[in-house]
Amino acid sequence: MLVVLVGPPGAGKGTQSQRLAEYLGIPHCSTGDLFRDACQRQTELGLQAIEYMQSGRLVPDSLVEKLVVERLSQADCQNGCVLDGFPRTVPQARQFDQWASQNYLPVSVVVAIEVDEQTLLDRLADRGRQDDDRQVVHERFRQYEELTVPLLDYYRGQGILRMVDGVGGLDEVYERIQQTIEATRT
Ligand code: AMP
Repeated sequence: MLVVLVGPPGAGKGTQSQRLAEYLGIPHCSTGDLFRDACQRQTELGLQAIEYMQSGRLVPDSLVEKLVVERLSQADCQNGCVLDGFPRTVPQARQFDQWASQNYLPVSVVVAIEVDEQTLLDRLADRGRQDDDRQVVHERFRQYEELTVPLLDYYRGQGILRMVDGVGGLDEVYERIQQTIEATRT
């Protein structure tokens, strides 16, 4: 099963997708984590990605696709995974759909976590990650609105988009996500 989690910065995608992956018994694949790891190890990809990440912009699609295909080609992903932070743009999704159908692993369901902006800002202020400073956060929101929100329509058109209310405690939100996934499996 290939599940995609989408949400604005601070929506809790990382935590929720990790938990969901554990429940489904498939790996959790976060492109943000993969990029942060590449930056830390100063690989060629990391060096190319770092300035985008530090300024809150999305890394160019061509770099992301390579990273994801490499990760999904590993043996532990043969039955799918929970994708956290990918696809994030319509071109990424279109390209990925091609790869996914060629590999008999189509996206089953896309869960979009909805949280109002003030709650997101409060959460990010508490989290303190390097790309969470005010100006960078502003840019990450702008990029989300401009590049990721159209992705929701793309998946809505495929009939696989499910919206989940992301306001509330971690457990409460997780319950909603789990129920949403279960409803698609029956
Ligand atoms: P995240 O941890 O998902 O918030 O990702 C952190 C940063 O990694 C983002 O702000 C982007 O710069 C980069 N990134 C992660 N996933 C993608 C993606 N699918 N497309 C482009 N950039 C990405």
